[in-house]
Amino acid sequence: MKIIMLGAPGAGKGTQAKMIADQYKIPHVSTGDIFRANIKNGTELGMEAKKYMDQGLLVPDELTVKILLDRVAKEDCKNGYVLDGFPRTIPQAEVLDKALCEIGDQIDYAIDVDVPDENIVKRMGGRRACVGCGATYHIEHIPPKKEGICDTCGMELILRDDDKPETVQNRLSVYHNQTQPLIDFYEKKGILRTVDGTQDMKDVFDAIVKILS
Ligand code: ADP
Ligand code: AMP
Repeated sequence: MKIIMLGAPGAGKGTQAKMIADQYKIPHVSTGDIFRANIKNGTELGMEAKKYMDQGLLVPDELTVKILLDRVAKEDCKNGYVLDGFPRTIPQAEVLDKALCEIGDQIDYAIDVDVPDENIVKRMGGRRACVGCGATYHIEHIPPKKEGICDTCGMELILRDDDKPETVQNRLSVYHNQTQPLIDFYEKKGILRTVDGTQDMKDVFDAIVKILS
């Protein structure tokens, strides 16, 4: 099964993608996580991506598409994957389509996690990410057992630089201008499914499972 998660930054794509990956035993592929791992390791790709990420802008398609196609060509993706944060532009979606078409394959579902902008701003301010394993929490909705510490690996939880309020506004307008048109793109292909992302995360997940089965 090949799934794309759509939705504004902070809509809960990553949270749901991890649950889908666990349930269906497929890899969770997040371009944001790949960039953050590269930044942490000080790679050239990481340094280049950081310039854009810090401003809430998209990393150019030339960089993003290659890392995604390399990732999904790996052995663990042969039975499917859940994409989180990719595609974010129409050209990215077209390249993915073409690459899949060349191997006689296609995306099964594009799931739009729908959350209005006003909820997004609150969510992003409360998101905390682990500096070690990248797990995400929310200080109100999904708190860690011990404040500031990751339940999974015990490392520190931080507010991502790009989750600061001034950057969140930029990311939202980038989303509306460049990413939201993908909703139409996948609707026309007949594979778009929409879930109400303002529900409790368990209810969002149940709605997704219903779609996938
Ligand atoms: P995205 O991957 O779309 O950017 P995340 O999955 O990281 O979003 O979620 C953004 C923030 O909102 C995180 O702090 C997460 O813990 C929290 N969150 C995710 N789903 C829900 C939900 N259904 N209700 C409340 N908070 C949520
Ligand atoms: P995310 O973790 O998905 O919220 O992504 C964090 C940041 O990484 C985004 O704001 C972009 O700067 C960059 N990024 C992640 N995925 C993509 C993509 N598909 N295209 C361009 N930039 C991306």
